[in-house]
Amino acid sequence: MGSNHPPTTFEGALCPLPLTHDERIVLGHGSGGKMTQELIARLFLPPFSNPALDAGNDAAVLPAVRTGQLAVSTDSHVVWPLFFPGGDIGTLAVCGTVNDVAMVGAVPAYLTAGFIIEEGFEVSRLTTIVASMRQAAAEAGVIIVAGDTKVVQHGKADGLYINTAGIGTVIADARIGGQLAAPGDLVILSGPIGDHGIAVLEARGELGFQTDVKSDVAPLNHLIAAMLKESDQIHVLRDPTRGGVASALNEIAQQSGVGIRLQEASIPVRPAVAAACELLGFDPLYVANEGKLLAIVAAGDAEKVVERMRATRYGEGATIIGEVTSEPAGRVLMKTAVGSMRVVDVLAGEMLPRIC
Ligand code: MG
Repeated sequence: MGSNHPPTTFEGALCPLPLTHDERIVLGHGSGGKMTQELIARLFLPPFSNPALDAGNDAAVLPAVRTGQLAVSTDSHVVWPLFFPGGDIGTLAVCGTVNDVAMVGAVPAYLTAGFIIEEGFEVSRLTTIVASMRQAAAEAGVIIVAGDTKVVQHGKADGLYINTAGIGTVIADARIGGQLAAPGDLVILSGPIGDHGIAVLEARGELGFQTDVKSDVAPLNHLIAAMLKESDQIHVLRDPTRGGVASALNEIAQQSGVGIRLQEASIPVRPAVAAACELLGFDPLYVANEGKLLAIVAAGDAEKVVERMRATRYGEGATIIGEVTSEPAGRVLMKTAVGSMRVVDVLAGEMLPRIC
């Protein structure tokens, strides 16, 4: 997991023309002219440097990393506030897209990043966010090969939005998709749920009490690579982000036309997250995660996949939480801790806006 706020290291050696600490983004930085060039040269190129980006052309020209099918994903990040315990919008913008590419069994290789910045935004905060992106990209083993910067007038955006797109190559023989869950498969969850949502609420000051919950935001591509080495019977991978585990499993049940039956007692939730959810009236099954995955695996391979996951940094808490059934098709049921059966439905609206 990335540290909270990596130190700003672009001044000095990395940055030929240090930006002053109280400097702010002005409309001219988005003009496409000299100021934009300076901003890019001083703030973005030093941390993200690689031959494709440094070439400075209209598009990055890249070597194909390996043969096979390409996986492509994009995501816009509007999380508020921009900094939260365990990460910031930069960590999220890299990890979110890396994870989506990895969830189809692909090795992410390249990212693009588009920044929409509000006039008046502090350069020091932007520098910290860019450093978080560099750190997350380095951990994931991806490079940022193309970028864009736009500046909008004060009041026309909320600080900073970041869009990222990612490209990867599907691992040979991996056949993974939400439509491939089959009755008899088991459902694996990589660790405790709800950390990201609660950490963002904490940062908003909306909890009304203190917790030490940190966002779980992390790149999961190395975990997935290890899982795919262990088993060729992994049918579905999905990161339960916005909408949480409940929404992700409902999507899979519908895509595959199967039922999913969960055991509430086996779903890990940290005590602090459970307590916060209880107080706020949230069900942790619907709270966002940014460093967890669900895997639907043939029953015969599930135990060894869990064992392999537990040996990795982001899969330590991996556990089997349920099974795939033929009926009721398209629905998720859960056996509660008191033994009753309840329907785990899709949310009608959004429980927590701007969580990612
Ligand atoms: Mg996803």
